[in-house]
Amino acid sequence: MIIDGRAVAAQIRAELHARTARFFENRGRNPSLAVVLIGSDPASELYIRNKIKACAEVGIRSLDVRLPADVSREEAIAAVRRLAADDETDGILVQLPLPPHLDPREILAEIPAEKDVDGFSEKNIGALALGQDGLVACTPLGVMELLKRYHIEPRGKHAVVIGRSNIVGKPMAMLLLNADATVTVCHSRTPDLKEECRRADILIAAAGRAKLVTGDMVKEGAVVIDVGMNRENGTLCGDVDFKEAEKKASFITPVPGGVGPMTVAMLLANVCTAAEKRYK
Ligand code: NAD
Repeated sequence: MIIDGRAVAAQIRAELHARTARFFENRGRNPSLAVVLIGSDPASELYIRNKIKACAEVGIRSLDVRLPADVSREEAIAAVRRLAADDETDGILVQLPLPPHLDPREILAEIPAEKDVDGFSEKNIGALALGQDGLVACTPLGVMELLKRYHIEPRGKHAVVIGRSNIVGKPMAMLLLNADATVTVCHSRTPDLKEECRRADILIAAAGRAKLVTGDMVKEGAVVIDVGMNRENGTLCGDVDFKEAEKKASFITPVPGGVGPMTVAMLLANVCTAAEKRYK
């Protein structure tokens, strides 16, 4: 069965619309997200535009904060601090990458954990590691939501995650562990990736290598989730050889139309969660 990320994301957006309306009834304003873009990287500009448009569709007010590429460290920090202190800003997102003279760790550290809708802060990652409540990175959260909505239960399953980045692989592994899966994390130094993958009931590919996962790496009946977004000859493709893997998998996500649409949907969900929690 092909997992339809676009359909699930649309369903989530409809649910969020109801949540923002309820928030408005209670608070007299919409939940709000501040998006900070430093410089004018064209890919970042496009991501920001998409996020702002997605916010408007579900009733989240967005604040588009632009700073020049040569902004000083002090000014950049001050801009994020202002948003951190602003009572009507529920979520803050600083679009990465930053210009080279700015240290992303230092800038991101200015976002309070309760407004950190990307889930990148040390406090939120720590909470996830401890199995506590917090805001979780959007892409791995989106994968968990897909599993949930397709009634795929991680408990007792062997999950293999390819990739150990701080924004996808590691939080993904922790979420699966918190959901009672037995988790193996593979990375570029894993000696026998094929053998590890073949033991997976749930295989999550997040390496950023086109067609890394071939059909012979997929166990019969496995659930295959492809997080990869790679450009090959101008077309978008995942980390999984879809045609081959599809023959073996019980469930599989396509690229595009699988995990991708879920990432923005979960960002919107995190903004609503952050807004609601601030007034609990
Ligand atoms: P990254 O480059 O930070 O991390 C890649 C990880 O994969 C590393 O841990 C590395 O050790 C591992 N890896 C690389 N080559 C490998 C190999 N040959 N065998 C085993 N492991 C290998 O990337 P990232 O930010 O985690 O993103 C991973 C992929 O997911 C990229 O394609 C990215 O574009 C995509 N992505 C998609 C979304 C989405 O919304 N769908 C969001 C974020 C990232």
